[in-house]
Amino acid sequence: MTGGGWTVRYEGGRPEAEGHHESLLALGNGRFVTRGAVEESVADGIHYPGTYVAGGYDELASEVAGRTVVNEDLVNFPNWLPLTFRPEDGEWLSPEGYAVFSQVRELSLREGLLRRRVRVRDAAGRETRVESVRLVHMEKPYLAAIEYLVTPLNWSGGIRIRSSLDGTVTNAGVARYRGLEGRHLEVVEFGPVAPEGVYLIARTRQSGFVVAQGARTRVFRGGSRAGDHHLLDGEEGRVGEEVRLEVGEGETVRVEKVVSLFTSRTPGAGEPGEEARRALSRAPEFTALEMAQRLAWQALWRKYDVEMVTRGPEGDRERLTLRLYVFHLLQTISPHSEGLDVGVPARGLHGEAYRGHVFWDELFIFPVLDLRAPTVARSLLLYRYHRLDAARALAAAEGYRGAMFPWQSGSDGEEETQRVHFNPLSGRWDPDHSRLQRHVNAAIVYNVWQYFRVTGDRTFLVDYGAEIVLEIARFWSSLATWRESDRRFEIVGVMGPDEYHEGYPGAAEGGLRNNAYTNVMAVWCLLRAFDVLKLVGPSHRAELTVRLGLGREEMERWDSISRRMYVAFHGPGLISQFEGYESLLEFPWEFYRAKYGDIQRLDRILKAEGDSPDRYRVSKQADVNMLFYLFESSELRSLFARLGYPLSTDALRANVAYYLDRTSHGSTLSKTVYASIVHLLDREAGWRLFVEALENDVDEARSGTTSEGIHLGAMGGTLEIVLRRYAGVKPTTRGLRLAPQLPDRLLRLRFRVRYRGRWLDVLVSHRRLVVRVDLDVVDPVPILLGDLRFEVPPGRMLRIPLRP
Ligand code: BGC
Repeated sequence: MTGGGWTVRYEGGRPEAEGHHESLLALGNGRFVTRGAVEESVADGIHYPGTYVAGGYDELASEVAGRTVVNEDLVNFPNWLPLTFRPEDGEWLSPEGYAVFSQVRELSLREGLLRRRVRVRDAAGRETRVESVRLVHMEKPYLAAIEYLVTPLNWSGGIRIRSSLDGTVTNAGVARYRGLEGRHLEVVEFGPVAPEGVYLIARTRQSGFVVAQGARTRVFRGGSRAGDHHLLDGEEGRVGEEVRLEVGEGETVRVEKVVSLFTSRTPGAGEPGEEARRALSRAPEFTALEMAQRLAWQALWRKYDVEMVTRGPEGDRERLTLRLYVFHLLQTISPHSEGLDVGVPARGLHGEAYRGHVFWDELFIFPVLDLRAPTVARSLLLYRYHRLDAARALAAAEGYRGAMFPWQSGSDGEEETQRVHFNPLSGRWDPDHSRLQRHVNAAIVYNVWQYFRVTGDRTFLVDYGAEIVLEIARFWSSLATWRESDRRFEIVGVMGPDEYHEGYPGAAEGGLRNNAYTNVMAVWCLLRAFDVLKLVGPSHRAELTVRLGLGREEMERWDSISRRMYVAFHGPGLISQFEGYESLLEFPWEFYRAKYGDIQRLDRILKAEGDSPDRYRVSKQADVNMLFYLFESSELRSLFARLGYPLSTDALRANVAYYLDRTSHGSTLSKTVYASIVHLLDREAGWRLFVEALENDVDEARSGTTSEGIHLGAMGGTLEIVLRRYAGVKPTTRGLRLAPQLPDRLLRLRFRVRYRGRWLDVLVSHRRLVVRVDLDVVDPVPILLGDLRFEVPPGRMLRIPLRP
């Protein structure tokens, strides 16, 4: 990847990198995302054109290892990209049929445009230049378009252009899942649109999710419409048109394809087929769409850009990468996502890995949204609220009370985690206990609480947030059991974030005793439940306790758990990841590094060898250390003190040193978490980890599975580090606190935040802090810096020199 501050550029094309590039060159608008596959490609093992719609799931049964498994997938909807040409007596341009020269693809983040320039030669030696510009509209979130220029370089004569919508696509984007059923779509209708264009309606087989697309193709020669159009014979599942015209050598044929996309859930829309056809007839020409796209992105960047200027040869790349992460975040979740009843899929809407499910990764994304797009954050939190009953049913089914949200959530809040997991190294399906990660419930409470803390949105808390928090608190309380031997509460049969440890070595059952992260988070949730009951006020409190049947006895139990929860230690200040951790074997890291090189996915390696990571002190990702990531040390100390475990001031250092040495970073979240907390101990070392975390998705060599979807949690996490750790942004009830702590290599940051409805520009360098309050704000905004408090009036700037 190369390019200036705003453009991602790939030159040439290497088959092995194509999937990776397609994910990073994807375009979207918070409603749907389309991978950056070239227009002429089909799914062929190298290319994978995919279009995914927020909330567009479907469930299918497959036979695996002699049993029936049911999977809910984020569906690959019809491909609207197909656009190609051929000389009258030649082959259609396709990646196989033509030699490709000098291909350049450029994603302009600033404009939301994907450009491509390529020279191709067919078997007869005819050379042609093809240029395209593609967009998925950010202003009209139901439109997309391609401009496609074809210039014969050494030939002339008849040329045919073919433009279509392909409903024959399946879910086949992840090799590991290919044994599973992937035919989710039925094309239910297609045909011409009057006066021009074609449409296609597809419906998912189980969930009945409908997507209708329309495509209007216009061809121009010398600035005027040209060519004879005719419809393609409606092949099964495809619809399209062909245009025939004459072209001279060196002359450019300009094609524009404008596409509409509506679903059965598009807000404000009626029957999707009708809408798709109507939108097509109203859609402006490409140039107008392109102009509006630029303006829409300009407005987004004005709010959401984070400009990071760093020192060193990689400065440009670092700045660009951070922007690319903002860009992909905005493509997955934009202001158009508001009101959609969707959560944040861990892998974006960019591919099929993890089947588009929603995990705890939201924890790494909400902080950024709370600070900058609070209404979107609120809408995403409602995704959980609307699935409270499903979570209550999941708790009840396991014999618990309250609400137990699933580890993997899709359309309806049922548990979507599989019970078996395919190991590509061994070719075997192993048992998968990852659903025991009950800590996802703590993440949900954390997200609700942080949203409230940052925005002060009490109405949300009263109407929705409180119920989520109370029902999860109730779940934790019913999960905790009393242990008479040391007169402590404990939580058994769970997994922490470190997915390498699914159970005790050799145990038949999955699950661990007293995962420290889970236990402490459970306590924290119970305390927030008390806070929430106070915050909503007496009448809401009375109403909630009656409605939820919350009695005094239950709350007394919450209080006792919050004082007597067990946490294991195995050294001074050294928190045990779970009870019994210290009796596991140390792992022969050097031996395995020498044997395998890349040992990030140690779980798969060990299982393929007939061994198991359960036996060793190895972690996939931060687990205990998540506590230091989420909480400030004073808060953590008071939590532990309440439990009767005084936490030394050195605890952060001790736990980071111990676990970092034993972590393989098999999840992209891991380096993000460590970069954030190591920064507190050693800015230089923290920065090195940050730079590595930043490479998560862009480094082709390291980003193994980016081709199957981006890692949105890690992207959000890196942005969070910049805002929270480096700029030290912390909204409080007294004002917006800023406590910059820039690493040496980071010279300057510029971004905007929204504090209680008011937008502020912030510029931080080693020498100064500048805050400018928007003109359209009514009251002065309180800014806190150390012990100082400044009231900054609308339109004014606060400049504070910092000690270098
Ligand atoms: C990580 C989880 C994460 C999931 C989805 C897994 O590899 O271990 O923590 O939630 O990916 O991103």
